Amino acid sequence: MRSLPELALRPTRPDWAGGLREAWTPGEDGAAQNLVDFIEDGLGGYADGRDRPDRDSTSRLSPHLRFGEISPRQIWHALGTARKSGEARGSAADAEKFLSELGWREFSYHLLFHNPDLATRNYDRRFDDFPWKHDGEALRRWQRGLTGFPLVDAGMRQLWTTGWMHNRVRMVAASFLIKHLLQDWRTGEAWFWDTLVDADPANNAASWQWVAGSGADAAPYFRIFNPVTQGETHDPGGAYVRRWIPELAGLPDKNIHTPWKAPDDALKAAGIRIGETYPAPLLDIGFGRQRALDAFAMIRG
Ligand SMILES: Cc1cc2nc3c(=O)[nH]c(=O)nc-3n(C[C@H](O)[C@H](O)[C@H](O)COP(=O)(O)OP(=O)(O)OC[C@H]3O[C@@H](n4cnc5c(N)ncnc54)[C@H](O)[C@@H]3O)c2cc1C
Repeated sequence: MRSLPELALRPTRPDWAGGLREAWTPGEDGAAQNLVDFIEDGLGGYADGRDRPDRDSTSRLSPHLRFGEISPRQIWHALGTARKSGEARGSAADAEKFLSELGWREFSYHLLFHNPDLATRNYDRRFDDFPWKHDGEALRRWQRGLTGFPLVDAGMRQLWTTGWMHNRVRMVAASFLIKHLLQDWRTGEAWFWDTLVDADPANNAASWQWVAGSGADAAPYFRIFNPVTQGETHDPGGAYVRRWIPELAGLPDKNIHTPWKAPDDALKAAGIRIGETYPAPLLDIGFGRQRALDAFAMIRG
C-alpha cells in the first residue's frame, strides 16, 4: 500500500493551497499546540477581542475540532487545569466567554442530531415561501470578494486564501448575501462548505440558518448587519481590510470602509479608480435593507 505522501495528493499546478499551508498545521500535534498557545497567550482579552477581525484574538481551533483532532472535552479540561495552576492568561470573563462558544458548538450538534437535513431545509418552515432572488452575478461577486463593500470583500478573500474567516465577518458576509442581496441562505452555506477548512455540518448549517432568521434561536429578521458600520466598529483602523484588499491599502482610515465616498484627491493619492481597480458598491445599502424588510414581512404572517 502506498503511503500518504506517495499518493501526491497535494496540488502543484496550479498550487491553490499555499495560503492554507501557511495558515494551518493539520493533525493532533498542531491542534494541541494551538490550544497551548491560545491558553497561554491568546485568551487574555478574548471576551472583547473575539469581535475584532483586525486582531488575532480567537483560538483558531475550529478546523481541529471539526476533524476530531481535538475534542471539546479536552479543551474544557485543559483550560480548567491551566486556570487553576495560573498558567492561563485572561480573566474569568474571557474563559467563560470562550467556553460558551464551545457550548454553541454543542448546541449546533444537538440541532443537527434532531434535524439531519439542517443544511438544506428551513428549520422554520415559513421560510419555504420566502421570495429569494436568484442572481448568479451577485452571487459570483460575493464569492470573489468583489461586492464593493470592503469588510465583506476582505472576509471573502480571507476565506478563499486561508480557508477561514473571522466569526464577526462571517456574520456580516452571510447577512449581506441573504438580506441585502436576497440570495437563498443555502447558496452561501454551500460556498462556505466548499471553501472553509472548518466546514462543519452542524456549525455551518446552524449558523447560516441563524443569520437567515430561519433557524432555532434565530437572529430576528430585522437584524440586518450594515457592512459599513460593522467595519467602522470592528475594524476601526481598517487593518483587516488593508490586509486582504491591498488595492485599498493607501486610503485614509476614515474612507477605508466607504471607498466610493472618498474624495477624488484621496482616491488619486491611493491609486484607486472606483469601478476599475476596486468595484463600485453592488447596491445601495439603504435600498437593500428596505427590500429585505419588505421581503421578510411577506412571510411573517
Ligand atoms: C455564516 C457562518 C458560518 C459558520 N460556519 C462554521 C463552520 O462551518 N464551522 C465552524 O466550526 N464554525 C462555523 N461558524 C462559527 C464560527 O464562526 C467559527 O466557529 C469560528 O469563527 C472559528 O474560529 P475559532 O476557532 O478561532 O473560534 P473561537 O472564538 O476560538 O471559538 C472556539 C470554538 O468554539 C466554537 N464556536 C465559536 N463560535 C461559534 C459559533 N458562533 N457557533 C458555533 N460554534 C462556535 C468553534 O468550534 C470554535 O472553534 C460559522 C459562523 C457563521 C456566522
